[in-house]
Amino acid sequence: MPLCYINGKYAPISECQLPVTDMAIQRGAAVFEAARIYDGRLFALDMHLERFAESARLAGIAADKIIPLLPDIIKTGVGMDGCPSDGLVRPYITGGDINDKGFFPEPRFFVLFGGINKTPEEERRRGATLVPNRMERPFPLCKSVNYLFALIPLGGGDKENHESLYMPGGEITEAMTNNFFLCKDGRIITAPTGRVLDGVTRNVVLTLARENGFTVEERCPREEELAVADEAFITGTVNEVLSVVRVGGLTIGSGRPGPVAAHLYRLFLSNMERWLS
Ligand SMILES: *Cc1c(COP(=O)(O)O)cnc(C)c1O
Repeated sequence: MPLCYINGKYAPISECQLPVTDMAIQRGAAVFEAARIYDGRLFALDMHLERFAESARLAGIAADKIIPLLPDIIKTGVGMDGCPSDGLVRPYITGGDINDKGFFPEPRFFVLFGGINKTPEEERRRGATLVPNRMERPFPLCKSVNYLFALIPLGGGDKENHESLYMPGGEITEAMTNNFFLCKDGRIITAPTGRVLDGVTRNVVLTLARENGFTVEERCPREEELAVADEAFITGTVNEVLSVVRVGGLTIGSGRPGPVAAHLYRLFLSNMERWLS
């Protein structure tokens, strides 16, 4: 049974509850993080907690007293029975019961310690398919729990689709839970932070790309560039580095996972130690 920390103690997840009056439920006011546990160690926890504080600030949730408690709560939880040695830690801060016109002075928080749905080997081998989403993700630096408007374009159903890709006005920003990258003539093109979430995996992959001589362009790739791209990939805590071979009806490059994503994924795995604690 996965583990949860809530109201000052650790308990099996089935024993943990959130009141129906919480603004997470009433108004969608809640932010979260998802950090990877590899072999009992946390990947880039500091980067996740910095971003968490920023998400809460943007959401109007008073989290200043909660954030400093999290490193100890998380490290203790990761060492407990019930926490998988390969999994995800997901801290949440919710609006609590009081909504003062968009300021939430008495938040609640909890932390989930659980397993992970790893990228299936089959999808890694074939590459992922994304579905176009014409919307802009609002407040891009806020990791909110609200993924509804990225799920609606998927429309249920097709198991072949990985997730949706935000491309407002033909500018490609990010996917539902991953940052997006396009490769053309040895260059790697990805939307700038601020237009998109400050992805932890994005930061790690860009660091490794630059160290290894790739040219990086931080701008939104245009939709028209998909048709002439050499390859594309996404990055995120769960999927790490994953090739994208189709967006809607459009095939990218050869239609098969490409060498740049494979190279960056190898670099990610072989340099992982630098971000583990
Ligand atoms: C979580 C998330 C990402 C990926 O961020 P990581 O820190 O690399 O996991 C990208 N975009 C959105 C909208 C996300 O929610």
